[in-house]
Amino acid sequence: MEYLCRVDELRALTPSVFELKFTPERPLVFEAGQYVSVVVPHGEKPLRRPYSVASAPHSVPIELCVQRIAEGPGNSYLARLQPGESFSVFAPYGFLVFHPKPGRDAVFIATGTGVAPIRSMLLSTQFQASPPRRTTCLLGVRTPDEILYHDEMSQLAGLRWIPCLSRVPSVPKGQFLGRVTQWLEQNSAEIAWAETDFYLCGNGAMIDEVKTLLKARGVPKDALYQEIYFKPPKA
Ligand SMILES: Cc1cc2nc3c(=O)[nH]c(=O)nc-3n(C[C@H](O)[C@H](O)[C@H](O)COP(=O)(O)OP(=O)(O)OC[C@H]3O[C@@H](n4cnc5c(N)ncnc54)[C@H](O)[C@@H]3O)c2cc1C
Repeated sequence: MEYLCRVDELRALTPSVFELKFTPERPLVFEAGQYVSVVVPHGEKPLRRPYSVASAPHSVPIELCVQRIAEGPGNSYLARLQPGESFSVFAPYGFLVFHPKPGRDAVFIATGTGVAPIRSMLLSTQFQASPPRRTTCLLGVRTPDEILYHDEMSQLAGLRWIPCLSRVPSVPKGQFLGRVTQWLEQNSAEIAWAETDFYLCGNGAMIDEVKTLLKARGVPKDALYQEIYFKPPKA
């Protein structure tokens, strides 16, 4: 279904990611973790680009968090929008949603703006009404200024929030020096592999690496949920 949306606010979350808040013309019903398909004006034939909703389904305005990529039409269009202007989305789409499974753990793993649907899930009333036994969220970024939603996530009750930083010499307590896959390897003993659901979102290379690791640990496919944002070209 198409929704006309009014821009409420744009603000920088990090040097390369901005938040777009908008209010749809009528209630936009979606499940936490789903995405909207933004209509991007582009000559005679508009383009469509998917962006995960970063806010919980009960929250208005709706929030997106968007990575700036040089010359990409989708992100550049959203970055140029001004408060009061309108844009169109089709919604809702996507299958990366929370699956409540009492008695099991959940590990959410994201790179960059892949944390958006995870934030939507963690803030949702559905998640808070039936949380996993233990919840961990790993966010892979290169440098501290790329960590998204750090204050909010650090304070979320019941969440073990671990930013994993790959391009720094050292990290403060509570963060991990290395990639998300290295965190999983080094903390293997404390993961109940057979009793954990894994939610993966972001860079396709990270998702492939994590899936290889999970397969080696015997994690079945039905304990795995994923959304690939972008597949980097093969070197
Ligand atoms: C289901 C889904 C949900 C998504 N949700 C979000 C979201 O919440 N926030 C968000 O920022 N993006 C999200 N994306 C990615 C988004 O849809 C666009 O692909 C991205 O914004 C680039 O679109 P563009 O039109 O600006 O550039 P494009 O013309 O699509 O790409 C321009 C160039 O940048 C490269 N590129 C594309 N994406 C990336 C990247 N992430 N890093 C580096 N290079 C890249 C392309 O290969 C191309 O060379 C999502 C993707 C999917 C499939």
